[in-house]
Amino acid sequence: MSDRLPGFSTLAVHAGAQPDPTTGARATPIYQTTSFVFNDADHAASLFGLQAFGNIYTRIGNPTNAVLEERVAALEGGTAALAVASGHAAQVVVLQQLLQPGDEFIAARKLYGGSINQFSHAFKSFGWNVVWADSDDIASFERAVTPRTKAIFIESIANPGGSITDIEAISTVARKAGVPLIVDNTLASPYLIRPIDHGADIVVHSLTKFLGGHGNSLGGIIVDAGTFDWSTGGKYPMLSEPRPEYHGIRLQETFGNFAFAIACRVLGLRDLGPALSPFNAFMILTGIETLPLRMQKHCDNAKAVAEFLAGHPAVASVSYAGLASDKYNQLARKYAPKGAGAVFTFSLKGGYDSGVSLVSKLQLFSHLANVGDTRSLVIHPASTTHSQLDDAAKVKSGAGPDVVRLSIGIEDKEDLIADLEQALGA
Ligand SMILES: *Cc1c(COP(=O)(O)O)cnc(C)c1O
Repeated sequence: MSDRLPGFSTLAVHAGAQPDPTTGARATPIYQTTSFVFNDADHAASLFGLQAFGNIYTRIGNPTNAVLEERVAALEGGTAALAVASGHAAQVVVLQQLLQPGDEFIAARKLYGGSINQFSHAFKSFGWNVVWADSDDIASFERAVTPRTKAIFIESIANPGGSITDIEAISTVARKAGVPLIVDNTLASPYLIRPIDHGADIVVHSLTKFLGGHGNSLGGIIVDAGTFDWSTGGKYPMLSEPRPEYHGIRLQETFGNFAFAIACRVLGLRDLGPALSPFNAFMILTGIETLPLRMQKHCDNAKAVAEFLAGHPAVASVSYAGLASDKYNQLARKYAPKGAGAVFTFSLKGGYDSGVSLVSKLQLFSHLANVGDTRSLVIHPASTTHSQLDDAAKVKSGAGPDVVRLSIGIEDKEDLIADLEQALGA
C-alpha cells in the first residue's frame, strides 16, 4: 500500500468497510438482528458502563449502521458520526444534547419547510426556542445572540431556492458567541461542500436525499467535527457534567474529540429511540458508492436546465447559484466550485396559477415532495411544503406564490429540457 491519503471517490466506495471476517462477503452485510451475544458477564458489564465499545442492541448501534457512520464521517472530515432514522431525527437528537428547556437557538430563515415546522412547533413544546436570522445579513445572527443561545443552525445550500450560505462568516459569529455551528449539508452533500472545512462544528444530513440518492430509503446522520470545547462555563451539561445514567462519567472528559457523537448515541438515540434500520443503512451505503458520479451529473444537468429556463419568455426569474448572473454566484464559486447543487427555484410570469398549471403538464418530472432522487422532481412550495407559512414568510423563505422548485435528476438533460419546453409552451 502506498502512503497516499485516499481521495473522495475512493472513500465513497471503501471507507469503513472490510470484507466480512467470517464469510468473506465483500459487500457490507445487512446485520438484520436486534441484539448481540455477550462474551461473558464482564464483557456485558463493560459495554453497558461505556468502558468498552461493542454491540449491545440495534437501537444503540448495529454493524451495518457502523459502516455507514464511518463512511460519512470520512467523507465529511469529522471524528465520528451517528446514523438515525431520518434527517428530522438527527435534528432532534443534536439539539437534545445542546438545549435545556428555556434555551434558544438561532436558525437561518431559508430552510427546508419541514425544519421550519419542527423548529417552530415541536421544539417549542420542548421549551427550545428558535430565533430566526437572515443568511443574507450576517449581522442579523449577531443581533440574535443572547446568554441563552446554545447553537446556530444553517443549511449549506439552502432550501428551496438553492442559495449558498456564507458558512465561514456565520462560523465566526458562532465562535464569538461560544456556541457550536450546526450545518445541514443535505442539499450539497460532502461531494460539493464540506462544512467542517469552513468552521462547522456539527454536520447533519437527511440521508434520504442525495447521499442515499435513489428515493427509496429514509435516514439521517450526525457528524461530529471534534472541534468544539463543551466544558466552558457549564453551558452544555449533557457533555460536561457527570451523567447519572452512566455511573457519573463526564462525556467530554472521557471521549474527547468525539464526545458529541457519543452523547448523541448514548443519551439521544438510546433514550429517544429513532434507530435506523440496518436494511436502510445498506441501501444508503450502496447509494453513497456512486455519490461523486451522480452528484456531478445532477449539477451539470441542473446548470443546463437553469440556463434554458433563464432564456424562456414565460419565465420571470431563475434562482440558481450556478448561473453567472445569480446573486449567490460569487459564494457558489468559493464554496461549491464543482457545481451549485441540483435543487433550485424559478418563478413564472403568470404567478400562482401558472405554477400550478406547469406542475400538472410536466410528464417526465414527478410531482412530489422530495429532493435528491435520480429522477427529476417538481413541486410548487407555496401550495405544499411551505403552505403553513403566511404570505410574507413564504416570500422571505424563497417560496412565494409564483415560485416552482425543481430537483434535477440524472436523466439526459435534453429530455428534461424538452419536457419543460412542452409544459411551458402548451
Ligand atoms: C428532507 C430534508 C430534511 C429532513 O429529512 P428527513 O429524512 O425527511 O427527515 C432536513 N433538511 C433538509 C435540507 C432536507 O432536504
